[in-house]
Amino acid sequence: MSDFDFFEDTYGIEAAQQTQNILIDTQERIGMVLDLLPMGLFIHQPMGILFANQAACSIFGQTSDAMVGQHILDFVSEKNRPLIQHLMDDAFDKNDPAIIDELDIIQPNGNHKVFKIIASSLPWEGTPVIQILAHDISEAKFNERELIRLSETDPLTGAYNRRKFITLSQTTLQQAKQQVAPLCLITLDIDHFKKVNDSKGHEAGDVALKSVVETIHICLKRHNQNLDPEDHAVLARMGGEEFAVLIPKSSPEESKRLANLIKVAIEDTPIETFLDSFHITTSIGLTTLINEDKTIDHLLRRADKALYLAKSNGRNRVEVALSDDDEQDVTHHIARSEARND
Ligand code: GH3
Ligand code: MG
Ligand code: MG
Repeated sequence: MSDFDFFEDTYGIEAAQQTQNILIDTQERIGMVLDLLPMGLFIHQPMGILFANQAACSIFGQTSDAMVGQHILDFVSEKNRPLIQHLMDDAFDKNDPAIIDELDIIQPNGNHKVFKIIASSLPWEGTPVIQILAHDISEAKFNERELIRLSETDPLTGAYNRRKFITLSQTTLQQAKQQVAPLCLITLDIDHFKKVNDSKGHEAGDVALKSVVETIHICLKRHNQNLDPEDHAVLARMGGEEFAVLIPKSSPEESKRLANLIKVAIEDTPIETFLDSFHITTSIGLTTLINEDKTIDHLLRRADKALYLAKSNGRNRVEVALSDDDEQDVTHHIARSEARND
């Protein structure tokens, strides 16, 4: 080997060392840049995480050392695991990105966050690799959900409002018809509520409205506890001191028992204000779905007729209108009672 050859070798080793240092440096710099990304980024092989930036680690309250080498599913809640598994399978198999529009995550510190997740395959030599981006959309989603909640609920009591009730009931009615399943509806009206306002004050009236909703919710919670969510009985404030409860998959007999339970619970629950404690009662009308009913308005109208009968028969009671024949009976009763009152 000549002196010249030796000189050339040293130069080659130094150059290789320099290139390697530059590569390590570049890798570190890229890592630092990716750490500054305002969204979570995972680089994932089929068996485990290759890289997780700071935002990605903070989603799960972990350090990069704890995450790299592990599978992301080790850190995901049981509820979200099938969704993430499906997303990753799609990203590894297909060229198009796989997306979860809204993923709810409860973080280790108890914070509730919503993420949009996008996973796509990366050009990588050797093994298949995907990148998973987690974009925190919590603020926008919570604002959106809050707007929806406000548009569906009554601000005073938190119960569903009339519009939401009609939409929900109309869907339930169509399902009940398709499945030939029973469906009942009750309407409730607080008795002599004007007197409550006049004698106790409007604020005490508001307390009474909130108390009625709480009491009905307690009764419905017991009724709903073993039912599928789509079969839950739901309550709405239809306006003023009037409420409605839709009771899916329930016979008129069962629904009447529930209506009586609500009536007694309201009667027995004291309304507590700073100054006072008093009791109120409600009148309730009950009806059931019949073949002729096309819209929920038909049931609401029949339940209201039964409710007026409950009023004219002395209040604090449940009356039933099972069919339009009953409705005629009810109308007749009302006419008679109004004639008596004249
Ligand atoms: P009945 O037994 O026949 O139902 O008699 P009532 O007095 O309950 O019926 P009426 O329709 O005469 O009066 C209803 C009252 O409900 C009048 C109204 O001021 C009151 N009301 C409606 N909405 C509210 C509310 O949000 N808060 C309060 N405090 N009162 C309300
Ligand atoms: Mg009324
Ligand atoms: Mg009333």
